[in-house]
Amino acid sequence: MTLMRRFIIGLLLLLLLFGGGQAQVFTHGFNHRQIALTFDDGPSPLYTEMVLDILKKYHIPATFFVIGYKVADNPDLLVEIVRDGHEVGNHTYYHSRLNWVSDKKLLDELKMASDLIAEKTGVNVTLFRPPHGFLNQEKKILIEKAGYSIIQWSVNADDFYHVFNGMRAPSSIASRVVSRTYGGDIILMHDTSAQIVVALPKIIRALKSRGFQFVTVSKLIRLHI
Ligand SMILES: [Zn+2]
Repeated sequence: MTLMRRFIIGLLLLLLLFGGGQAQVFTHGFNHRQIALTFDDGPSPLYTEMVLDILKKYHIPATFFVIGYKVADNPDLLVEIVRDGHEVGNHTYYHSRLNWVSDKKLLDELKMASDLIAEKTGVNVTLFRPPHGFLNQEKKILIEKAGYSIIQWSVNADDFYHVFNGMRAPSSIASRVVSRTYGGDIILMHDTSAQIVVALPKIIRALKSRGFQFVTVSKLIRLHI
C-alpha cells in the first residue's frame, strides 16, 4: 500500500469516527449556587397539582418535561404549570424508547408534543429530555439539529417504581437527593410519584437551608437569558 493510500484510508476512518460531530448534552449547570428541580412524565391528574402547590408554597420555579399524550388528557394541568411560572420541556408524545424508532417517527413525536404544548399554552418548547435517559449519538445530533437542547440530570431522586424492589420510601428519596446535591445540579424527579409529594418539601427545605437558589433548567444552563 502506498503512503498516499494509507493516508487517505486513515483520513476516511477519522471522518467516519469523528466527522458526525458530537451533540451537546446538559447534565449540569455552571453556577454552583444554583440548582434546578425537574419533573418528568406528567401532567398527572393524581400528583401534578400537589407538586405545584408545594412549589408555590416555597416560591420555587421548576421545569416539567411533559409527555404529549398526557398533555392531551390533562391540558388544564399544563396551563396551570405555565401559569405558575414554571418551564416546560418536551419528553416525546408516547414516551418511546428513541434508540429503537426511525428518525422520522422520532421527529414526528417531538413535533406532535411541541405543537400540542404550543397550542395549549403558547409556549415554544426548546428543551428536550429523552425517555429513560436513553439516546445514542446519532439521535442526539438529529434532535439538536431539530432545534432542541438535550437535558439529562446529575442527581436522580429514584422516585419511580422498580419491578423487584418497588418504590423507595419518601425519607430515603429526600436524603438521597440532599446528600448528592453539590450545586449546579439538575435534579430528576417525577410528578407521577406519590413518594415525591411527601419527599419534596423535605428536599426543598434542606437545600434552601444550604443556600441554593432554585432556577429553571434554561437559567441554570444559561439559555434564553
Ligand atoms: Zn420519562
